[in-house]
Amino acid sequence: MASLGATVPLAAQREGWSRPFPGHRVIGNLYAVGTYDLAVFLVTSQDGHILINTGLEDSSPMIRENIESLGFRLEDVKILLTMQAHWDHTAALAEIKALTGAEMWATDGDAPVLADGGFSDPHFGGRESFKPVSVDRVLEEGDLIELGDAQLTVLESPGHTAGSSSYTMTVVEGGRTYDVVVANMGTINPGKQLVVDPTYPGVAEDFADTFRKQTALDIDVWVAAHGSQYGLHDKYEAGQAYDPLTFVDPEGFRAAVERLENVYTEQLAAERVD
Ligand SMILES: [Zn+2]
Repeated sequence: MASLGATVPLAAQREGWSRPFPGHRVIGNLYAVGTYDLAVFLVTSQDGHILINTGLEDSSPMIRENIESLGFRLEDVKILLTMQAHWDHTAALAEIKALTGAEMWATDGDAPVLADGGFSDPHFGGRESFKPVSVDRVLEEGDLIELGDAQLTVLESPGHTAGSSSYTMTVVEGGRTYDVVVANMGTINPGKQLVVDPTYPGVAEDFADTFRKQTALDIDVWVAAHGSQYGLHDKYEAGQAYDPLTFVDPEGFRAAVERLENVYTEQLAAERVD
């Protein structure tokens, strides 16, 4: 889950997580097939597709409908990925894995949490918060995920969860090359501790690493795990015609990373004073 701050009431946040939103093309072979605020991405190829994230437990029919509305089939999903092993992004993975026979690939930080349904999550754990999903391949930093002509590179972005990951890709469209990141942002959930009784050992260093890597990215297009994080509803209106420039926003990405890094720096200082 993302921390949107105290200004967004939980009920409103939840409503946005389950409200349907039309599937649409982000750029090239990257499509958004999630809900109003829970981002799910489809990366297509002639040899099948990669699905990144799900929504809540009941999100499969919405994801299917969005995929079909774009002319693709859920059954052609071959690889499942996640950006962070939190239930609002993982709850339908087990169901979609069973429906499609796709393989679940995840980082070593998130794989155990996926496999035990969130039980071992150091912040929200101690109970099962989503249906466990077994992991077929463990991903590492820099791994190239290839399916047909689709290619994604793993950019581990830990902190939000120990195994949070972003994915980078390149799209060529109309003679122009676009660098794209599906970014897991470094948000700090309420109650999480960085240095004093840290939520997990090394969490502060993990966040620092993520901010360093994301700041160093030279990207044209970015999307994130929540529509609200990447300004989906400011950039795109349902039914709008496809334009590769719609989600081009390098300054917005830099500003979002910087804002989150400032929140992190403030929390570090506050924990050290208390
Ligand atoms: Zn989360």
